Amino acid sequence: MAIFERIEETAEGRRRLLLKSPVTLEPIGELVCASEADVNAAVAKARQAQKAWGAKSIDERVQYLLKLREVILAEQDRVVETVIRETGKPMQDALTFEVYAVCDFISYWCKQAKKTLQDEVIRAPGIMSLMKKVHLTYRPMGVIGVITPWNGPFVLTANPGVQAILAGNSVVIKGSEVTPYSAKLFEELCLKAGIPEGVVQVLNGDGQTGADLTRADVNKISFTGSVATGKKIAAVCADRLLPYTLELGGKDAMIVLADADLDAAVHGAVWGGCVNTGHFCCGIERIYVQAPIYDEFVRRATAMAKAIRQGQQHGVNEDLGAVFWDRQLAIMEAHVEDAKKRGAKILAGGRRNPELKGLYYEATVMVDVKEDFDVMTQETFGPILPIVKFDTIDEAVEKANNSVYGLHGSVWTKDVKKGIEIAKRIETGSMAVNDIGMMYGVACAPFGGVKESGVGSVNGQNGLRGYSHVMPIVVGRYGGADTGYPHDEKKFNQMKTIMNFMWKNPIGRFLFGG
Ligand code: NAD
Repeated sequence: MAIFERIEETAEGRRRLLLKSPVTLEPIGELVCASEADVNAAVAKARQAQKAWGAKSIDERVQYLLKLREVILAEQDRVVETVIRETGKPMQDALTFEVYAVCDFISYWCKQAKKTLQDEVIRAPGIMSLMKKVHLTYRPMGVIGVITPWNGPFVLTANPGVQAILAGNSVVIKGSEVTPYSAKLFEELCLKAGIPEGVVQVLNGDGQTGADLTRADVNKISFTGSVATGKKIAAVCADRLLPYTLELGGKDAMIVLADADLDAAVHGAVWGGCVNTGHFCCGIERIYVQAPIYDEFVRRATAMAKAIRQGQQHGVNEDLGAVFWDRQLAIMEAHVEDAKKRGAKILAGGRRNPELKGLYYEATVMVDVKEDFDVMTQETFGPILPIVKFDTIDEAVEKANNSVYGLHGSVWTKDVKKGIEIAKRIETGSMAVNDIGMMYGVACAPFGGVKESGVGSVNGQNGLRGYSHVMPIVVGRYGGADTGYPHDEKKFNQMKTIMNFMWKNPIGRFLFGG
């Protein structure tokens, strides 16, 4: 059962997809994919719109964004309904991940905008400070191409979109073909908030539409999605010398030490593994538990996983939603089958929910798992918790680092200082201690993977600057020709005197040399 399938092209030759609900498996709509010409037209429109938008003051742009937050809050039920219709995620996940997170991001970026984007004057180093002033100005890059995945269809459209436009750019966003309506809704709400037409455009379409966007007249690509697609995008951007960021997949390890708060760690493991149906870039994919508490941890995690309520019949009390996409379901099933075949013991779940018609997979706990099983080496991106016992901290660190991915991870211990020291030893983009992290959702924290999990980082203090070109303007104070023509012996000796004063003389070092 495919969640979307290709159907006959339109009369103009545009590719078309039929979309189905992962909850009911019934059709929910048809999608006409934007063609290469549509992409180029949108980018041209965005470039035109950017001129006036980029000329607005930071304060003006902030006012538009605060209005957008107001509109999103007013339309929160519609956002939740739209997201659920095409993902089948629980109401709580939709509200928290898609509405709360977006409002929180907008609030943070609006507060940051003035601080991080206004012009500043910095001191030139050493003796140069007497002769030059350095102004920094944060210029918009132009048109940003944003390509998004399906697991957070509203938030992963809105967050890069908001940052890019606050920095004075316009954006052309390619929503995922799995979740096109949530992405498109962001464009609609931006227009409703009065953001001028052309500043935010959302195009829907398939991978080809995304590829067309990477080849269009954009100034940067901001991509969130899989490693395989990320590599293709990096190749195109390298060829065009286009800047890009890649936010890719992960295989986050959770390390639970013997002195951890067991209740908190078990809850963290089950929630962190199952929230958003496990389709969470910072979700827990591997669990390492120290020997003295291993048996009790497994017992409690199994009981908690079995108690999870699944399916929309539970209304707001639903814990675990549908798998958003049949392609992901196939990956999850393959990983569980591989583990079973190779001797893993399934203690909870391990199968599709037989009571529900849609794409529902039960919360799964498994033990007797080896490090080379697919479920330990490849991103599963589902509510699957493989639990492994370890003895020493060195062993846990080695196992956590034994991955091609490096996105996020966590350490659980009552000794926070020790937790932070262990966190620093993990080869990953970010870590949490006694928290499952939600790292992407912490706007002030720079977020970006290492190894195969990505290139560059988003969010954090440099989030808005990542969508700007930092342009230094050096202003000469005395005509600028301090070491200029004509070259002569006097200037040569002056240079020697200055250098000796700056770096040999204690007063010179104090004043200029450092
Ligand atoms: P995907 O790579 O299949 O697709 C992502 C987007 O890229 C879609 O819009 C798709 O249409 C488009 N696309 C496909 N081929 C393309 C091409 N050749 N050129 C340009 N665009 C193309 O990924 P997905 O399955 O939608 O997303 C799931 C992945 O995203 C998981 O690996 C997950 O970990 C990752 N993810 C990462 C983060 C993060 O911040 N690090 C956040 C969410 C999801």
